[in-house]
Amino acid sequence: MGESSYGTNTIVVPQYQLPSAIINMMKAYLPNHFQPGQVQLTEKEKKMISRRDSLLGPAYKLFYQQPIHIIRGKGVWLYDADDKPYLDAYNNVPSVGHCHPRLVKALEMQAGKLNTHTRYLHDGILDYANHLLSTFPKHINNIMLTLSGSEANDLAYRIAKQNTGGTGFIVTNLAYHGGTDAIASLSPSLGNNVNLGTNVRSVPAPDLYRCPDNVGSTLAENVQAAIDDMNRHGIKPAAMIVDTIFSSDGILAEPAGFLQDAVKVVQDAGALFIADEVQAGFGRTGKHWWGFQRHDIKPDIVTMGKGMGGGHPMAGIALRAELLNQLAKSRYFNTTGGNPVSSAVGKTVLEIIENEKLIENADRVGNYIKTAVRMLAERHNIIGDVRGAGLYIGIELVKNRKTKEPATEETLRIINEFRQKRVLISTSGTYANVLKIRPPLPFNKDDADLFLGVLDEVLSAL
Ligand code: PMP
Repeated sequence: MGESSYGTNTIVVPQYQLPSAIINMMKAYLPNHFQPGQVQLTEKEKKMISRRDSLLGPAYKLFYQQPIHIIRGKGVWLYDADDKPYLDAYNNVPSVGHCHPRLVKALEMQAGKLNTHTRYLHDGILDYANHLLSTFPKHINNIMLTLSGSEANDLAYRIAKQNTGGTGFIVTNLAYHGGTDAIASLSPSLGNNVNLGTNVRSVPAPDLYRCPDNVGSTLAENVQAAIDDMNRHGIKPAAMIVDTIFSSDGILAEPAGFLQDAVKVVQDAGALFIADEVQAGFGRTGKHWWGFQRHDIKPDIVTMGKGMGGGHPMAGIALRAELLNQLAKSRYFNTTGGNPVSSAVGKTVLEIIENEKLIENADRVGNYIKTAVRMLAERHNIIGDVRGAGLYIGIELVKNRKTKEPATEETLRIINEFRQKRVLISTSGTYANVLKIRPPLPFNKDDADLFLGVLDEVLSAL
């Protein structure tokens, strides 16, 4: 046992000795990122990369040892500059599939008619708000629209502080909630070069595989300890914010309900519980619209983004109406959030999810993949755990099933092998040893079989 490799607070987690090359990659906090010199690049690739570096600067990263140059998409397929197809098992922003014809048409039609802002009367935003709110439990009755998940979390952060008079926030050890200054301070996965505020406490994410005992009550105890620590330091708790599928913490979904005790601890302390649905929302986890519904909890604020606009930049919050009274004492205006084009797009995304039964599809195909991977695990010892909900699946790879030593190097090799076979996935988790599978929602059984065939092939060749 030792301190977390992300060393944000003194959190004790099992520690494994990883090779220094891997540690260096992990220090960049994006294990799957392009670094020059790993593979032979074409002249064209070299040129594009150097143009990108000189124009966009060093903070932007590319995926994979050999970056991909995608120029078009359709359904669950992406096509590169040579028109070679790639199966997209990674992107959840194009929630209803890349370039869904109905979505493109809705966007074109509204863009050709009017695009303004939320300070004129317009039915579009009202119809959208009404439809979106119908996907939530009754206690959630207002929405506000932004452009990015970071901005939505920033607004939730502000509302939590206003309503509680507190400043303390609780997050999980490897959480990511966004890039504004306030929200970066709630995002330990950004690494040690980004300060967590002195008002922030991070707790171990609930991990049934590595810490199987009493997952929910252990989380609640850690949250209580964080609140006690804040109180001891004169910090009033404002909120706990949780990505309800724990996507950066390693994709942690079971046992459903494990959030209940922690939510109670937070709300009993007079703080708010914010469900960050930027990753899990819009039916991705199957059965429900929202990841928090799997846990049967009542969040005070829900934040959302990514799949909300199916690729069009849309995000927002949904919350109990009375939480907006303080904000209303000043005002809120988002120049382009909730504009008529975005509202038309957002409404069409909801309609497509309903009409095409994409939530049921996520559930069915997700379960099919998990069952098939469990069968593959009988032949591939590297598979330590298969988990997730709906079409958000994690496959944790280990060198040894008894010690659960993470197979980090192998995981990075595998996602690059997948890329070479033109199937896109990535990694997650404290040790970057969890394959992250998160395709557009129309991913069907044939697509799943293609993915599973490549998984078998790549693991057999290890
Ligand atoms: N919350 C979570 C859980 C996320 O994964 C992300 C983005 N990866 C965000 C918030 C921030 O969203 P955006 O990039 O749209 O600002």
